[in-house]
Amino acid sequence: MPLTDHFGRSIHDLRISITDRCNYRCVYCRTGTNGAAYAELPFDDYLRMARILVGLGITKIRLTGGEPLLRKGIVDFVRELAKLRTFDGEKPEIALTTNGHLLAELARPLKDAGLDRVTVSMDAVDPERFARITRVPNGYESVLAGVRASRHAGLDPVKINCVLLRGFNEDQVIPFGMFAREERVVVRFIEFMPLEEDRVWTPEIVVTLDEIVRRMSEYLLLEEIAHARSETARRYRFADGVGEIGIIAPVSRPFCGHCSRIRITSDGKLRTCLFSVWDHDLHELMRRGATDEKLTEFIVKVVEKKEERHHIGEPGFVPASRTMVHIGG
Ligand code: SAM
Repeated sequence: MPLTDHFGRSIHDLRISITDRCNYRCVYCRTGTNGAAYAELPFDDYLRMARILVGLGITKIRLTGGEPLLRKGIVDFVRELAKLRTFDGEKPEIALTTNGHLLAELARPLKDAGLDRVTVSMDAVDPERFARITRVPNGYESVLAGVRASRHAGLDPVKINCVLLRGFNEDQVIPFGMFAREERVVVRFIEFMPLEEDRVWTPEIVVTLDEIVRRMSEYLLLEEIAHARSETARRYRFADGVGEIGIIAPVSRPFCGHCSRIRITSDGKLRTCLFSVWDHDLHELMRRGATDEKLTEFIVKVVEKKEERHHIGEPGFVPASRTMVHIGG
């Protein structure tokens, strides 16, 4: 029986955070410390969880963090994940979200191990601004090398995630449009969500989908193209046919009704929504010797109770029990 929640949504996307450490300290995400707040599990534990979940209908696994490339052994982990088989007897689709800082060296080995796709986060396409946002010097060149190495390794498509904040980097919309066309990558703009450590979010800081489309149209007109229902991003191509961008608009155009995702945190907690106010301790059950059957029972019950939607911007909004870096974006 495939995993389904109380609202009839089929759950087939799994995100696993393999660490909540990060080598970047992006101003809109981190307070500025390097410290991890939660434990990391041995890869075998994540693998067992993934195997059970693939047995329950998961078809896509995304590795994230923190910064997942900080974990030694990630290539072998991908190789083990690639041996799992979905209901249809296929290898699950394996994707990675990374800041790209260490990607130049790892793109080829990860591809060879079975990684299908990569998403690299970049919030500016000029080196100085990039350093101000990440609070790490000289990162831009490393990340650009990582993006190019990914394309050469055959990771396809390479996607770039960019979070826009008003008064900070909204002037990067057109430069990113040019970047998408020149580097042959899909740039996806993400509306800023209240998931940061510093709790600075206000609706005014969010650069919305409508504004992004308007700004990009001053450069070149966009045409919306079809996207899969459970896909987070709305997709657009440039009117001259060269290049594609996406916009992920959880704030101005929530897509919770089509959500197909669950998450495992670095310390082995199951989360059913980015904005969950609690998490479910799958790892503690494992540690106490639960059988696969018991773990399956637990997962099915937790998923059934997945939240209907988030309440960003509504009166009485209750912040998530963890911030983005400690959940896994
Ligand atoms: N370190 C990896 C990276 O940089 O992609 C993976 C983890 S990071 C938390 C995943 C994504 O979440 C990044 O693209 C980041 O920009 C995005 N992100 C972080 N905080 C966010 C927020 N408050 N709202 C929207 N996106 C956010």
